[in-house]
Amino acid sequence: MKLSDLGEFGLIDRIRKLSQGKTSSPGIGIGDDAAALTISPSQAMLVTTDLLIEDIHFNLSYTDYYSLGWKSAAVNLSDIAAMGGLPRFCLTALGIPRGVSAEHILDFYRGFNRLLRLHKTELVGGDTCSSGRGLFISVTAIGEARPRRIIARSGALPGDAIFVTGTLGDSAAGLEMLRVRNSEFGVRNKKRKTVPSQAATGRLVERHLRPVPRVAQGLAIANSGCASAMIDVSDGLSSDLFHICEQSKAGAEIFADRIPLSVSLRRVSVGLSKSILEYALYGGEDYELLFTVPRRNLRKLRSLKMPITEIGTITTGRTMCMRDDAGKKRTLKPKGFDHFRS
Ligand code: ADP
Ligand code: MG
Repeated sequence: MKLSDLGEFGLIDRIRKLSQGKTSSPGIGIGDDAAALTISPSQAMLVTTDLLIEDIHFNLSYTDYYSLGWKSAAVNLSDIAAMGGLPRFCLTALGIPRGVSAEHILDFYRGFNRLLRLHKTELVGGDTCSSGRGLFISVTAIGEARPRRIIARSGALPGDAIFVTGTLGDSAAGLEMLRVRNSEFGVRNKKRKTVPSQAATGRLVERHLRPVPRVAQGLAIANSGCASAMIDVSDGLSSDLFHICEQSKAGAEIFADRIPLSVSLRRVSVGLSKSILEYALYGGEDYELLFTVPRRNLRKLRSLKMPITEIGTITTGRTMCMRDDAGKKRTLKPKGFDHFRS
């Protein structure tokens, strides 16, 4: 069977089925943002790992090593945040090709440790090797949580409200700007009377290169006991909502005009190749938290006073749909990045 037939998530599902029941540790295994391993009735360890590969996840022509270090840490801490956990420790493993200098790698760790320090998390080990081709970065993050407060992807029920922190689509738009900065984007903008503000462009690029994991928000949501399911938006709203729906055996209805879009994204919209809504739905790498809340908990959630937006409702049935500005319903397909299909 071809990997492209199975897709990334089909393959993970096959790996999960092959490995099921092989662990003696109770808790959450393959399939969530992080594994949750129960240590005692009051303590669980959260563990997650992510691999970043040159020219697949990042391109050294438009990222600097400091930002790369920052982002490598951020994407892992985001998975701990998505479980409602507190990140504590990280391990890194690098495969370094010829041509990369020691200063580059030290800059990587300056960025990595900066992000870790902001979240009181510590680098405690790893591995370093040479690579035949391309830079490989593997990061493992370890966090802690109270078992009863962990928020899995699987707990959403029909009727629950769907929320997202912050704004969506900025990172994908920032990436497009980085990719075409000196070519198409520049030419297109020269033809326009109004040039997109440097500040807006800078903010989108920053969101792509140096995402901020929503650790404090994840903890506040978990401690409040409000949410029934949670995931971080790494693949794009449509894909990540689909993960919640699949694992909760439910569907979803969202409203296009409620999806939070930043002022910066709206400002640069004319210079982009797609509609700004598409960046939010399919772009990914925003590292915001997408979570569901039973309606009886809404008052409690509002009292947390966090920047969150209600975008829809969990439904019965197993399909996702979106209502456009005119109220017309259309099916929402999970179209995000798939390593074997893209
Ligand atoms: P995320 O986007 O939150 O990092 P992924 O989509 O990468 O999550 O992975 C989904 C789930 O599948 C996670 O629980 C992850 O640990 C698990 N997983 C992914 N690849 C593998 C693998 N090769 N072996 C075992 N588990 C895997
Ligand atoms: Mg995740």
